[in-house]
Amino acid sequence: MLEVLISLPTLLVCTFLSTLVVGIFLLLHLYSGRRTAAAVYWCVSMWVGSVASVLLGLRTVIAPELSIGVGNALAALGYSLTWAGFRSFDHKPVSRIAVAAGPAAWTAAYLFSDTFAADMSLRIILMSVVTTAYSLAMARELLAGHRREALPSRRVIAILLASHAVIYALRIPFAILSPVSDGSRAFVSPWFAVFALEIFLHTLIVAVSVLILLKERSEFVYRHAARTDALTGVLNRSAFMEEATSQLRRRLQTGVLMLLDLDHFKAINDTYGHQAGDQVLRGFAAAISARLAAGMVFARFGGEEFVLFAPDHDLDQAMEFADGLRRETQALSVSHYGTPISVSVSIGAASVLLCGGDLDDLITAADCALYRAKAEGRNRVSIAGPAESLMQVAERMREMDIAEPLAAVAR
Ligand code: GH3
Ligand code: MG
Ligand code: MG
Repeated sequence: MLEVLISLPTLLVCTFLSTLVVGIFLLLHLYSGRRTAAAVYWCVSMWVGSVASVLLGLRTVIAPELSIGVGNALAALGYSLTWAGFRSFDHKPVSRIAVAAGPAAWTAAYLFSDTFAADMSLRIILMSVVTTAYSLAMARELLAGHRREALPSRRVIAILLASHAVIYALRIPFAILSPVSDGSRAFVSPWFAVFALEIFLHTLIVAVSVLILLKERSEFVYRHAARTDALTGVLNRSAFMEEATSQLRRRLQTGVLMLLDLDHFKAINDTYGHQAGDQVLRGFAAAISARLAAGMVFARFGGEEFVLFAPDHDLDQAMEFADGLRRETQALSVSHYGTPISVSVSIGAASVLLCGGDLDDLITAADCALYRAKAEGRNRVSIAGPAESLMQVAERMREMDIAEPLAAVAR
């Protein structure tokens, strides 16, 4: 049935058009200043795929050496370059030998074996092996990169590529059990028509997928930049508020918020210069980041003040953890042009149990505790107690304009 509806030349024209359109979009992408190695590989692979489709589509018009020989070699090159694009997309090195292997295997077999060149089934088997191998490798690359960068479409595209690889591999038993030969019979063989449709679909999927991946990558980069503090590389304030709010929404009893403020930081700037101060901020952020447990949210709150939310800690655990951070900071020595700079940190902590699960309340309470740590001599950890909670009530009343009327009554 399908073989009546589908003609191979029509499918090849569709393949040509889809690779051409995506090739044009990729060219525009490259010339809009977003040139990456992956986009270059994919762009070239689309144009190579387009030329391959034209040559394969002209098999009854032009010499078989050009149509079948060069056409299939370019089709294999299109696949290997697409795979190279997936490698580069995840910043992995691309082996030239691996890129050349598929097209070279085809070219060598076609040039040096007359039996191979004359036997359509053998040719189908070799091209199936080549495309299956590259498609499986593409799926593998995509999945391997998912943990580092969870783009929404990675898994879906990997599944589509792997399914295609399996379907493509099925051509091998078909070619052995029900061989086709050159000439009109090949185009009306039912299984050949089904697989030809599958090749077109796959090409379309790959072509659209690379555009989607490039778009998702740039969204990921912008989102990452919007959530990251440029100097230290840790989360910024707004990302912290987002993360901590979603953590607090899930928990009722546990969780401790800590404000960490470097001591006498202005003196570091004044003594060693602003750049040295920046270096201390980076060194401090890296030292704290290295000690974080899973689930903790750490961010630069502003200036020389940082914030940490430990969702699973109770007060005793948090106190111990915070004191570990304090000692780590005291032991930290940041080298600025060979001059060692030391720093200490004061930490104010507020627990969900004592101060409630509202993020603003926790910050206010931790800020009060931090103020106390500073007043008591710095380089210490202070915990917000019921007094700080009362201050929050006063703060709230002030916000709601209740304090003024109450004060008036008192007067
Ligand atoms: P305290 O122990 O009371 O916290 O004293 P401090 O000097 O750390 O606090 P203060 O608020 O007086 O000064 C903070 C300084 O941090 C002032 C500001 O210039 C400096 N600062 C803020 N952001 C940056 C930054 O990105 N880089 C550098 N180098 N300095 C910064
Ligand atoms: Mg300070
Ligand atoms: Mg400060």
